[in-house]
Amino acid sequence: MKSALSSLDIAVIGGSITGCSAAAELARGGARVTLFERSGEELKDRGAGIGIPPSAVEAYVARDLIGADVPYFHAGSFVRRWRSLGEPELGHLAWAQPTTLRLLNWGMLYRNLRARVPDGVYRTGCRVTALEDEGDKVRVLLEDGASARFDLVVCADGYASLGRRTLFPEITTDYAGYVLWRGSLPEHHLKQSAPLESGIHAVGYEGGHGIFYFVPGPEGGTRVGERLVNWGMYLPVADLQSFMVDRAGRVHEGSLPPGAMALHAEADLKTGARDKLPAFYADIVAQSEDTYAYAICDCEIPAYRVGRICLAGDAGAFARPHTGTGALKGVTDAIALRNALEAAEEVDAALTVWSDAQTEANNRLVRFGRQLGNALVREIPDWSRMDAVAMERWFNGTVTIDTEVFAKE
Ligand SMILES: Cc1cc2nc3c(=O)[nH]c(=O)nc-3n(C[C@H](O)[C@H](O)[C@H](O)COP(=O)(O)OP(=O)(O)OC[C@H]3O[C@@H](n4cnc5c(N)ncnc54)[C@H](O)[C@@H]3O)c2cc1C
Repeated sequence: MKSALSSLDIAVIGGSITGCSAAAELARGGARVTLFERSGEELKDRGAGIGIPPSAVEAYVARDLIGADVPYFHAGSFVRRWRSLGEPELGHLAWAQPTTLRLLNWGMLYRNLRARVPDGVYRTGCRVTALEDEGDKVRVLLEDGASARFDLVVCADGYASLGRRTLFPEITTDYAGYVLWRGSLPEHHLKQSAPLESGIHAVGYEGGHGIFYFVPGPEGGTRVGERLVNWGMYLPVADLQSFMVDRAGRVHEGSLPPGAMALHAEADLKTGARDKLPAFYADIVAQSEDTYAYAICDCEIPAYRVGRICLAGDAGAFARPHTGTGALKGVTDAIALRNALEAAEEVDAALTVWSDAQTEANNRLVRFGRQLGNALVREIPDWSRMDAVAMERWFNGTVTIDTEVFAKE
């Protein structure tokens, strides 16, 4: 049987985690692939840490999407703590919630995937400005005025996707009412590393929680002293527009990149962190430079394809970061798309099957993210008076959607 995939001329829009995965997989399946990335250079590291279930990491290695030597740490629990006067340094340990996640450095994952996109496929400095449906072809228009026709377009262009806006103009990403303020700190700045060896730390406070964990350093260093503490604090922000003003007075759309936040705003957030966190964690936050923030949004979508235009990764259903599935979802969408097209003789039938499966699975993740957001941010109970039994009862009664992120005992 000749697969539908091998006859296709495919455009992938976006050259990050999802775009590289899609380009590598579809090209290996025999398609002619062109990837358009708007950035003029290789992508920079953003967000230091990625948590991925072990089965997914093993699958990526088996498919040679990443090398077997990609560095990671294993996290066996979410260590849930709350500030306590009696335990000023680390706070009250409420629960070590079981998990099985591998913690990777975003940049290492990206560079592994990028290295598997064939030469000549990845075109930088190419911003796509419009997509025109021409039946069994799609015309891709670029900012420089050029255009080209493809049999299939895979939009892997992130949370503000042009592809999603083109297919579903009525769908907006909804602001959840809180932001994630983030930073990282080289390990050598820590007074002590021992507390963070035990997994992913989730430190609760009224109106949110902070996340702290080790990831391999920028060059993949995993030895003591080479690691990076990756952290984030969820904070309610009612007036998002005022929060998103940078140090030059410009208002940003949904995120303040590293180095953009006004110094007085960053100083105020660090002071606020002292009132929310036990000293060990507040010190990490206080010492971090060039912190950044983004608004937490999400959206479900009705389908992953309309005609010959497909969505993948964050361009599709967009879940809150509590789910820890950003990278996983993008790679999974790409692998599933190749599998569906390879298994079929007819393109449109394969796309429908793929779209139905991704829509169901990924919208479910969005709903999972909302449950976690309500439990861990908007309606977080005071963990300072809770023990492991009470915590488990509360969590299982509040978060009812199962995923691999939280291992069941
Ligand atoms: C600020 C920020 C921080 C994050 N930090 C983390 C983290 O620490 N851990 C984690 O697990 N996840 C994190 N995520 C999410 C994670 O980066 C993504 O889920 C993951 O990279 C998969 O995304 P993606 O490839 O689908 O989209 P993205 O990584 O957003 O990539 C989209 C790509 O498309 C390109 N593009 C967009 N529009 C066009 C266009 N019109 N033409 C051509 N190219 C275009 C962009 O330049 C970009 O390279 C973060 C996301 C954001 C926005």
